[in-house]
This record gives sequence, C-alpha cells and structure tokens, in this order.
Amino acid sequence: MNQKILVIEDEIHIQELIKYNLEKSNFAVTLAGNGIDGLNQAMKGDYDLVLLDLMLPGLDGLEICKRMKGDKRTRKTPIIMLTAKSEEFDKVLGLELGADDYITKPFSVKELVARIRTALRRLETDEDEEIHTVHESLDNLLTYKEITLDKEKYQVRKKGEKLVLTLKEFELLKMLIENRGRVLTRDTLLDKIWGYDYAGETRTVDVHIRHLRQKIGDEDGNNQMIETIRGVGYKINDEGDR
Ligand code: CA
Repeated sequence: MNQKILVIEDEIHIQELIKYNLEKSNFAVTLAGNGIDGLNQAMKGDYDLVLLDLMLPGLDGLEICKRMKGDKRTRKTPIIMLTAKSEEFDKVLGLELGADDYITKPFSVKELVARIRTALRRLETDEDEEIHTVHESLDNLLTYKEITLDKEKYQVRKKGEKLVLTLKEFELLKMLIENRGRVLTRDTLLDKIWGYDYAGETRTVDVHIRHLRQKIGDEDGNNQMIETIRGVGYKINDEGDR
C-alpha cells in the first residue's frame, strides 16, 4: 500500500510540484491549503508523514507542529518543515518543537523525496517490530553504559526501556557513541548528519543535543554522559564498557 503524505502548503504551484513528484514516487498525497484545514486533516490521522509549510494562512506551521506533537494521535508522525531561506530563526524553533527535519525553498525534488524516505525509514522499523517479533542481531547493537542502540531498527533503549528519538537525535547519539573519547566538533556533526545544506548552522546541533539529553535523562551534573566542550563541540567519555 502506498504511504500517505499530507502536504500543508498554501502556494498552489508548490502544492502541484510536490503532489506531482511524490505521486510519481508512489506516495499517496493529500493537500491542504491553509493551517486550519491542515491541522484538521492531520488529526484525522493515518498519515505516514506531514510536509508542513511554515508561513500559512489561518494557523502557522510552528503552531501546527506544536499541536501535532502534543496530541497522542499525531505525536509519532514525522514532520518535515518547508521554509524559505529568510526564515532561519524559525527553522530552529521548528526543530525545538519536534519537527524531524526541514527543507529550504527552493528545494530539489530529488532531495525532498530522499528526506521523506529517510524520515519514513525509522517509522517503518518501529511498526515492523510491533507486528512481528524480529530477532535482534548482536551485530546491530551498540552499547554504552545503560544505553543500547539498534542500528538497523533505529531504536534506543535505556535500561531496556524504549526511548522515542527523532532520526537526527538517533544519528547524533550513534555517532557520539561510535566515536567515544573523541571530541566531535559542531561542524563535523553538521556535515556528517545533516549534510551539505546545513553548513554554518551550528545552533541546530545544540538544539538536538539538548533534546537528546532530555530524552536519555542526561541532565547537568557530575556524571553527565554527553560532555560539552566549550566553543568546540561534544564528546562522550571513553569509560563505558565496550
Ligand atoms: Ca507559505
């Protein structure tokens, strides 16, 4: 069955561009042209992913994002925000509110489809697990202290308890653990995890680290796992068992 994508976007030509190309890539597309219709559609649920424009009549993208992440029905639905180049501050705010990714207009269709596939991958592996009991292969597991990370299923557990991380948070944690003992600069993390489009936006890394710390219960204190190296980047200490 085709995966269902809700596109909340008020500019007709962008709507059409996205719809045409996503349908060509075998997605089922529903369009909403303003914020209120968009939110109502989203709440009817059953979408695999929401593409969400930032500036919308009625209700803006940030508000929709906030409401979706605060509602049980839509909390887990990945959101990719669409933003214009000049809206840099708001992009960071979007990530703060729980958007999985953002893409800047004008964007290449190829990149948009690639980002959508990446965001959906984690969702699929989550659902798979609920339907079948999949054998965990030890090769896929990465362990650090109380944390176990399954590289294939994109899952993280702390003391056996499943944590809900976004894809970027997952990748960040994975990279820090794999490079334990080494300082990773913000630029390195941006480059490896976000790719070319994100050069210079180091605040993005800080926002994700903050969320990650909250989710894994790594608050300030003497025993903080993810260490901030002032003005440079982040590091996980090389003292966990391998
Ligand atoms: Ca708009």
